[in-house]
Amino acid sequence: MSSSDQASAATLPVKRGRGRPKGSRNKPKEVVSGGKENAPVAKKPRITTKTPKAPMTKKTVDELLASLGVQNLGKVSRCLKAGILNGAVKLLTPENDPGNKFGLNQVLVTDSCCYECGEDVTCTVRDVLYQPDYGGNGYGDGAPNATLKCEGEDCGGIFVTEICRGVFGYDSGKFFNHCTKCPQFGRCLGDYRECHCSKCGDHFFMTSFGGGCYTCDKKRKRRI
Ligand SMILES: [Zn+2]
Ligand SMILES: [Zn+2]
Ligand SMILES: [Zn+2]
Ligand SMILES: [Zn+2]
Repeated sequence: MSSSDQASAATLPVKRGRGRPKGSRNKPKEVVSGGKENAPVAKKPRITTKTPKAPMTKKTVDELLASLGVQNLGKVSRCLKAGILNGAVKLLTPENDPGNKFGLNQVLVTDSCCYECGEDVTCTVRDVLYQPDYGGNGYGDGAPNATLKCEGEDCGGIFVTEICRGVFGYDSGKFFNHCTKCPQFGRCLGDYRECHCSKCGDHFFMTSFGGGCYTCDKKRKRRI
């Protein structure tokens, strides 16, 4: 085929309408006037973040905390670790927060104190880093094990509940009971009398009269 044949073929009228016109497959690409032929196509800049795409594992949670300078990883709140693991707590890193409120300084919640003092208390990750996972010890006594307090002079300690669900409630400890026997750093059960059954993994309500697992002890009726 001569070059004059090609030129005449290119000037043939093209039928408009639906469908691909005959021979359009071989139609040469239009060259934008002024554009350089064979110019390299600029690649879109790749946006990179340090947030890992892969789901977190118990190991990567520990590694993340260690990278923030946390020591005694074995003593760190399981409720917090579980929250980081399941994504309920998204720890900011220096890369995505320039305001110096990342990592341990990151604010989880600001709420009024759960006691009569009623002061607003801001809770950071650092405040609950070593919070015990069980608030049932001495909750009526000013929660001596709690790691957060408001500015009020006579403030009893505040437990931050349900960090593992990203809810962050303030409580005296009576309703803070994070089960550490459950898999994946455990989960919050609420009332301090809820127990984990080591036989079946279910939870049951333990009263001062004792009581066993509803699932394993068929005679026991489930509390409504
Ligand atoms: Zn208070
Ligand atoms: Zn459990
Ligand atoms: Zn929890
Ligand atoms: Zn059981």
